[in-house]
Amino acid sequence: MEIFEKINSVTNAIAKLKENGNSIGFVPTMGALHEGHLALIAASKRANNITVCSIFVNPIQFNNTADLLKYPKTLEEDVALLKSAKCDIIFAPSHEEMYPNGNPDLTLDFHYQNSILEGKYRAGHFNGVGLVVSKLFNIIQPNQAYFGQKDFQQCLVVRQIVKELCFPITVHIVKTVRDENGLAMSSRNKRLSPEERQIASIIFKTLQWASGRTGSFSIVELKVKIKLRIVKAGLQIEYIDFIDVESDTLANEIVANRQYALCVAAYLGEVRLIDNVLFNA
Ligand code: AMP
Repeated sequence: MEIFEKINSVTNAIAKLKENGNSIGFVPTMGALHEGHLALIAASKRANNITVCSIFVNPIQFNNTADLLKYPKTLEEDVALLKSAKCDIIFAPSHEEMYPNGNPDLTLDFHYQNSILEGKYRAGHFNGVGLVVSKLFNIIQPNQAYFGQKDFQQCLVVRQIVKELCFPITVHIVKTVRDENGLAMSSRNKRLSPEERQIASIIFKTLQWASGRTGSFSIVELKVKIKLRIVKAGLQIEYIDFIDVESDTLANEIVANRQYALCVAAYLGEVRLIDNVLFNA
């Protein structure tokens, strides 16, 4: 496994590998790796000769400075995990390497996606994600890239980038990896005690419960029921929304034979958690 910190060196190394006929799978991360990230590495390894993982805590996607400052940084452990997962290349650039002039002047704007779910509550978040993912795609030039379903709206944004900026990259969405109690694995879970993790598992349990009842209740009724269950467990809800997966837009009603994502963001204390389930009506 090779570790690169410089854009030029990783780009040259990958160009040589591609000249020799290797396919490149890419997994962008912000480090503090867990089994969720490793599932993306495994998916990439199954389909590509070479797997590249980037580790970069992208400051411009944090709308909240406290969240950025508290974001766990565990590079040594990450490198050990990636080595045991047989990742081939790590790209771990510094802030200066990625943004030599401080933060970039260029902005991408995802308009509609900025007005719903994560986009609505984390101002500028997707613009920051979009910029760093575009930059990383240009640096790594992978054939395929892997993203987690846990960040469902991020997957929509990445697909939009690939389509609208014509990146010759196939995007794959990997199923959410969960703790045994159902809580979606997340780097932010490191800030929860074992008891809090148990409490937070109400999110997934409620999403599963609700996705099985869309035939009996309207979206408005379901949102009330979901909120009651999650709030009763001690969390605070930020949003509960249904996305129509075909149009990538908010759904106001459930129509038979269509696919939906039921998405939730909630706080347990100061820790913000998101989760979603996909289901066919
Ligand atoms: P992050 O380091 O949080 O930016 O995540 C890097 C990638 O890992 C993103 O595509 C995430 O959606 C994905 N990811 C994070 N947690 C999970 C999980 N529990 N299961 C599957 N993928 C995940």
